[in-house]
Amino acid sequence: MTFESTKAGSRWVTRIIPLFLAAAVGYATYVTVARVCADFLIHDRQQHGSAVAVLVLYFLFMFLMIATYLRTIVTINTDPGLVPLGSLAVSRRNSKEASDSTRRADDLEGQPYGGMAPDDNPDSPGLEQFYTKDVFICETDGRPKWCSECCNWKPDRAHHSSELNRCVLRMDHYCPWAGGMVGENSFKFFVQFTAYTACYCGIVLGAAGSSLKKKISSGDGVDGFLVGALGLGGFFGLFTFMMTVTSLRYVLLNMTNVDLLGYRTKVYQLAVRIPRGSQGTDSYHVINYPLPRPGTSYSTNQQANGTGTMNRVNSPSLGREARDELAHRTFAILRTEASENPWDLGYWENWKEVMGNNPIDWLFPIRRSPCVKHDLNESFYRMGDIVNVVRARHGLAPVPVDGQDGVEMR
Ligand SMILES: [Zn+2]
Repeated sequence: MTFESTKAGSRWVTRIIPLFLAAAVGYATYVTVARVCADFLIHDRQQHGSAVAVLVLYFLFMFLMIATYLRTIVTINTDPGLVPLGSLAVSRRNSKEASDSTRRADDLEGQPYGGMAPDDNPDSPGLEQFYTKDVFICETDGRPKWCSECCNWKPDRAHHSSELNRCVLRMDHYCPWAGGMVGENSFKFFVQFTAYTACYCGIVLGAAGSSLKKKISSGDGVDGFLVGALGLGGFFGLFTFMMTVTSLRYVLLNMTNVDLLGYRTKVYQLAVRIPRGSQGTDSYHVINYPLPRPGTSYSTNQQANGTGTMNRVNSPSLGREARDELAHRTFAILRTEASENPWDLGYWENWKEVMGNNPIDWLFPIRRSPCVKHDLNESFYRMGDIVNVVRARHGLAPVPVDGQDGVEMR
């Protein structure tokens, strides 16, 4: 199974670009090996050492560039990190109507519940993945973000891609060069690819440029092949260098292209787990999970020892009541301030979340980013001190460091 763009233009570009890149690399190889090293450095100048140095660097970075490119496109096309479709979306897409419906634009920062309304079923599939965590991104009503196209609850940092018509985990951008959506599974390989390509272009530029300069100054005239290599190397070198700088900035700040949209004014709403049965205050509302069934509501009796106990009102189902009592969790709905990034762990931890924990991971496109493991109980992705800052701002105690269920205060 592959995950191609829904847009014919993008699919067409995706098939042409690898051929174009292969032709460019073939040309650069001919110029560097034949024109620079064999003809100029070895034949004309007898500079064997320089020729060997250029060849070693050239093929080293060509190999790294091709390896990271292949790793990126294979990951993008086989496992781009899609959020599973909701059952309604599956049936809708299987029906003929789906093909007739016009596609909507990306809801990058999702208009709350635009289009198909969120599932009002308190036992909506997937909802428990959110309220079993201690923090998740929510809407004003305390429910997670909902994708009206995929009919699913969107995990933190997942966004709907109109290119794929699917929600993508930690979505970054659609890359025509790699032919797909760069997300959490491929972002590390993408960064490595742009960095190695910039280095590769730098070597082509250096080799062709210095040979051309020496040829001109010694009266050999202008070699058109060297000029062509300078043009290609300059174009791709500048492009990939800029991409590398931008991507490294994202890595160090723990942000994506999507996160950065409207960053200065962007406010996140966090559902933050608080002691069971706590009441809302002037500065925040609370939401209780599992959501009450229609015709029922939770009421809270605050006891003298501070323990909240829950009573169901008008409950039609006593069996469910006992289960809900045990699984019951209360969340405060808090807002960050503008430009606060809940996932910022500091430069070094941000780097390791994406690039890995050791130089082997940083340099080679072997293992995926640590952040894709999703093995945390607390949140979808590691969150930074901002969560405690936001809690404190709302008069809530910090999250206990040892995680020994202190939040429940039984
Ligand atoms: Zn979606």
